[in-house]
Amino acid sequence: MYTIRQQMETRATLLEGGPLAAKIKQEVKTEIEEMVRAYGAGPRLATVLVGDDPASAVYVGNKIRACQEVGIRSEHHALPASTTTTELLDLIASLNARDDVDGILTQLPLPAEIEERAIIEAIDPRKDVDGFHPVNVGNLALGRPAFVPCTPAGIIELLVHNDVEIRGARACVVGRSQIVGRPMAQLLLQRDATVTICHSRTRDLPPVTREADLLIVAIGRTGMIRGEHVKPGATVIDVGMNKVTDPDQVRELFGAEADKRLAVLSKRGSTLVGDVHPAEVAQVAGKLTPVPGGVGLLTVAMLMKNTLKAAKLRCSESG
Ligand code: NDP
Repeated sequence: MYTIRQQMETRATLLEGGPLAAKIKQEVKTEIEEMVRAYGAGPRLATVLVGDDPASAVYVGNKIRACQEVGIRSEHHALPASTTTTELLDLIASLNARDDVDGILTQLPLPAEIEERAIIEAIDPRKDVDGFHPVNVGNLALGRPAFVPCTPAGIIELLVHNDVEIRGARACVVGRSQIVGRPMAQLLLQRDATVTICHSRTRDLPPVTREADLLIVAIGRTGMIRGEHVKPGATVIDVGMNKVTDPDQVRELFGAEADKRLAVLSKRGSTLVGDVHPAEVAQVAGKLTPVPGGVGLLTVAMLMKNTLKAAKLRCSESG
């Protein structure tokens, strides 16, 4: 059926993340200014980066910059790749114990030698601004208040902000990671969507995803979701962030609009592409998030919101 839309030359409306991310950060900033007036200090976020993975360094840098924008005090702990699990656990314990630290963020993935699960579980759930601790995962599954992972929380904000109906909608989440897919499915369920979760063992994916009014894709495979996977008019949220370096692949992915991307490629050596095939899916979907400029910006904004929430929670606990 998507060929019919192609003939009509319609294109999906882009759901840009930038304006909403700016709005969320402005709201956080205003609340922090009030907090500083009332208590003399705003929230503090401790970021922890182990090793020298360039992508992780960029992500942490973006988070620290956002902290500066909204008035969150940040402190960064950059540890060598040779750091042991015990050393990292000691750092987490000291950050847990400090009264002036409201949120702790350990950038994942950690080097393979470190026991990632032990680190996640060591973070005080009240300071777990990423929402990865089993207590927060459990509370989310039970529909109780929790720190919710930033990417799916941002996607819900984006859908609500753009008046995309979730209640009663058929939603399909492709990907079942702890960071995106699973919490995404829980949040959609909480908002009364009928949710299907797909993964690498799903048989014959296109007829399943084509049922969805709301298709959320978090796979980590460049342009895997094609026109045939999408119900005409559906809202498609592309979480994927994949670096593409091959000009022929850029031409295939972007078709008539490849020129801009080829310019980025020749300037930076790579361009960022999602898990959705941009040229094909734009012809079928009703709404589509761009990559970059969609979900990624909201992830950082929601981290700011979670850090403020952690500070408010601790303020209210200490009376
Ligand atoms: P993971 O690798 O942890 O999970 C990928 C999921 O995709 C798995 O559940 C896997 O299934 C599923 N999958 C893999 N291949 C297929 C396939 N052929 N068909 C159907 N399902 C498949 O990735 P993440 O969830 O951490 O991230 C996904 C993408 O989102 C990445 O590109 C990442 O960079 C990006 N991302 C973007 C963020 C943002 O802020 N924009 C934040 C976080 C991630 P199975 O479980 O069976 O292995």
